[in-house]
Amino acid sequence: MATHTVTLSSDTDWPGFRGEARALLARQVPPEDVVWHTRASAESDLFAALETPRAQGVGSASAIVPPAFVRLCETVVLHDDPDRFGLLYRLLWRLVHEPTLRRDPLDADRVRAHHMAQAVRRDMHKMKAFVRFRPLPQDDGEPTLHVAWFEPDHHIVEAVAPFFVRRFATMRWAILTPERSVQWHPGAAADAEGGEALPTEGRLDFGPGARREDAPPADAGEALWLTYYRHIFNPARLKLAMMQKEMPRRYWQNLPEAVLIAPLAADAAARSERMVEAPATVPARRIVPIARPLLADEDSSADPATALAQLRRATDRCRECPIGAHATQSVFGEGPVGAALMVVGEQPGDQEDLRGRPFVGPAGQLFDRALHDLGWSREALYVTNAVKHFKYELRGKRRIHKTPTQQEAQACLHWLESEMAQVRPQAVLALGATAARAVLGRPVAVMRERGQWQTGPRGEPVLVTLHPSALLRGDPQQRDEAYAAWLEDLSKATQVVRAEAGETAAR
Ligand code: SF4
Repeated sequence: MATHTVTLSSDTDWPGFRGEARALLARQVPPEDVVWHTRASAESDLFAALETPRAQGVGSASAIVPPAFVRLCETVVLHDDPDRFGLLYRLLWRLVHEPTLRRDPLDADRVRAHHMAQAVRRDMHKMKAFVRFRPLPQDDGEPTLHVAWFEPDHHIVEAVAPFFVRRFATMRWAILTPERSVQWHPGAAADAEGGEALPTEGRLDFGPGARREDAPPADAGEALWLTYYRHIFNPARLKLAMMQKEMPRRYWQNLPEAVLIAPLAADAAARSERMVEAPATVPARRIVPIARPLLADEDSSADPATALAQLRRATDRCRECPIGAHATQSVFGEGPVGAALMVVGEQPGDQEDLRGRPFVGPAGQLFDRALHDLGWSREALYVTNAVKHFKYELRGKRRIHKTPTQQEAQACLHWLESEMAQVRPQAVLALGATAARAVLGRPVAVMRERGQWQTGPRGEPVLVTLHPSALLRGDPQQRDEAYAAWLEDLSKATQVVRAEAGETAAR
């Protein structure tokens, strides 16, 4: 028969258990000689009256246990099993007297303790997930009290309360359970006795258990929640078994949405079929498209410079393809209205995107060098791109150029057409395949058609050659040769540029 009876002050008296266990260990009291009670259980136990005097002042054992065991004890103490303290003391005793226990994860006591800890953690998780507050207006002018009813399996109310303090720090709330109740008073002074350090100002009061009827009935806010739940319910993703595993039926009584689950689940298959058969919906555009600007043969009352300025602003707001959402700004063309030669590149690069000007990055510098070698003046040219925003992918902190897709270039084409309609160049120089395709309206094999005048859809002469970035990417050994061939291509437009300068155009 047990010779020692210990009565702890509450079901969750972890400090009391720790002190008693140390004292018993110091006195070499084996676990089979100890009976553990809590105050509540002792009231219904005749033999508890023969309690051993509390082990105050008795020397403590100096046994060192792993920190993981202490954490395990803190959790297992919250379990509802009346034998939990006996189990923990037995484990402590064995840790001290059986060195091999630490290396035996399949030991029956260890396994049982771990299962109990798991059950407590699961219960805590469910409480965090399934508590639903309902407002209870106060007569005394105090802020509304939000009250929830919950029935935990284990003694977890004190352990979970700080979670709700963090979550609803400024709300006045109470959680009622059959065994314990807790109320949060935000902003109130903490008890002089202190207690658990809370992350925000206020006071937590714990009290006795309550009855379900003490919690308020459903309210108007719940109707709104039910409407929302009905709308987000996806019949195609319904997995009843998984749902019941994650949200066991015993919690349904506290969940307003539970009344909807059965009818929604019953209709899920038919609703899925209706969804499959329904015609596709058109996805909403993220940004309302901007009115398409006037083209060349449409009337415009604005003078070309004003129209170009309007176009510039409009491209900045444009989101007709995904590129615009990620760029810093649009990069519109620049140069004089009526320029004889319009130079069209592919898209702005990193530098252009940041500075908002075309051809100012490394490719632009190579282009400037060519202009210098050809004796052209950049001020006489209108320089722009087929695509107005910078498309890139992030590699670390670097933004690496990505070629626009055909769909993206097509979406952007109307901006280029509008620009051309206002500038009205005599000829176009297309640099690279994207620009050539945009200007000529067909796929272009740049290497085959380079350096030759083509005719655009409106009859305008178009000269095609490489984009300067292709030379920068090319084999450094052959860069001089490639540059010379490129200059040769560009020089075919020299007569157009000179015509702008007053000489006779030989086209
Ligand atoms: S790249 Fe062209 S189409 Fe795409 S968002 Fe920018 S301006 Fe609009």
